[in-house]
Amino acid sequence: MSNIEAQVSDYYNKLLLRNAGEPEFHQAVAEVLDSLKIVLEKDPHYADYGLIQRLCEPERQLMFRVPWVDDQGEVQVNRGFRVQFNSAIGPYKGGLRFHPSVNLGIIKFLGFEQIFKNSLTGLPIGGGKGGSDFDPKGRSDAEIMRFCQSFMTELHRHIGEYRDVPAGDIGVGGREIGYLFGQYRRLANQHESGVLTGKGLAWGGSLVRTEATGYGLAYFTKEMLTEHGESFEGKKVIVSGSGNVAIYAIEKVQELGGTVIAFSDSSAWVETPNGVDVAKLKEVKEVRRERVAAYVNEVPGSKLRLEGSIWDLACDIALPCATQNELNGAQATTLADNGCKFVAEGANMPSTAEAIEVYRERGIHFGPGKAANAGGVATSALEMQQNASRDAWSFEYTDQRLHDIMANIFRNVAKTAKEYGHEGDYVIGANIAGFKKVADAMLAQGVI
Ligand code: GLU
Repeated sequence: MSNIEAQVSDYYNKLLLRNAGEPEFHQAVAEVLDSLKIVLEKDPHYADYGLIQRLCEPERQLMFRVPWVDDQGEVQVNRGFRVQFNSAIGPYKGGLRFHPSVNLGIIKFLGFEQIFKNSLTGLPIGGGKGGSDFDPKGRSDAEIMRFCQSFMTELHRHIGEYRDVPAGDIGVGGREIGYLFGQYRRLANQHESGVLTGKGLAWGGSLVRTEATGYGLAYFTKEMLTEHGESFEGKKVIVSGSGNVAIYAIEKVQELGGTVIAFSDSSAWVETPNGVDVAKLKEVKEVRRERVAAYVNEVPGSKLRLEGSIWDLACDIALPCATQNELNGAQATTLADNGCKFVAEGANMPSTAEAIEVYRERGIHFGPGKAANAGGVATSALEMQQNASRDAWSFEYTDQRLHDIMANIFRNVAKTAKEYGHEGDYVIGANIAGFKKVADAMLAQGVI
């Protein structure tokens, strides 16, 4: 074992002890540290001043009680989180997730990923993430509003345009951002547009923000395809999920000539051999907030699947857009056996470490989430720019900016991978390129 390798595994073993019971956080850190060994062999000064240990320790971790009253008059108690991970290059920036699986380890993994993703956008945003174990499923609109108000009653003292700027993630969309913004505005006694992103268009929101993560994923994948002499034209594409990321990924992939042959939600997956009726999917999921069975009942030719896995289907391109660890090693092997050549992640860390190993062994070109799904947070940063200048840009201009940002991310990631002797390994390229900008800022700013 080289000196650097021994040093890095010593950091990692200490991190496991200090952060017991947080497997997703361990997984996210292990992948980044693996890439950083390559940087440290070449540029050992990046280990000076406790830089790596500081990078893996959040600047601040907030956990708070969120009490609220349900429609039956019963008191419910949830737990709220905000992990302010790193603000070396800009205010903390990252979404809020409302889902029963949320715990501190999940928020820390998401916050850690966000540092590198936000750095890759080229825009001045630090990394953070938050949320709650609140389950919005089956809750009335009034319950969602009361929960959001209680959550913001505590969170408001920790956020601000120059401090920390939350947005949406799983379980938090335009409706929730509206209730959260309303309560912030009331408590702060000022209309501070830049404190949240993903706002409605009438009150400081940006065009393209709704579409941004999915469109950005399609733009990134298009660059990756072009690099390898391919395009979306005539390709069979699997998109898991049917939330905000999946819907707009499906829309853009089909616009670019691909056929989306399957999507899913947590209840089932749907086979759509002739492509997806995006207008119907939007109506079912965004307007009626129903399960995918409703889509199948109304779209002839689509089939509801309760058995097996969405990754069993033969495809050319797989875009996991549901949630973390939704695609394991065995499923990655099935994808490879069935001829899949490209995987790009719309969700955060949807591929397990074993799946990523399979992509490497089987020659699948792989765009990791922190690069491929950065379009959402990048467009949030564009929303912040519009708020700061009290301006509102056109759809075309904002979409062009998003497109250029995603193309730049791909080029930067590909170039960095090559520079460090791992041409075509976009995991290593993304981790190193994202890291270096943050690390340079941290070194310049001293031991903070
Ligand atoms: N939740 C999204 C992400 O994972 C967007 C965050 C944001 O816009 O701040 O990047």
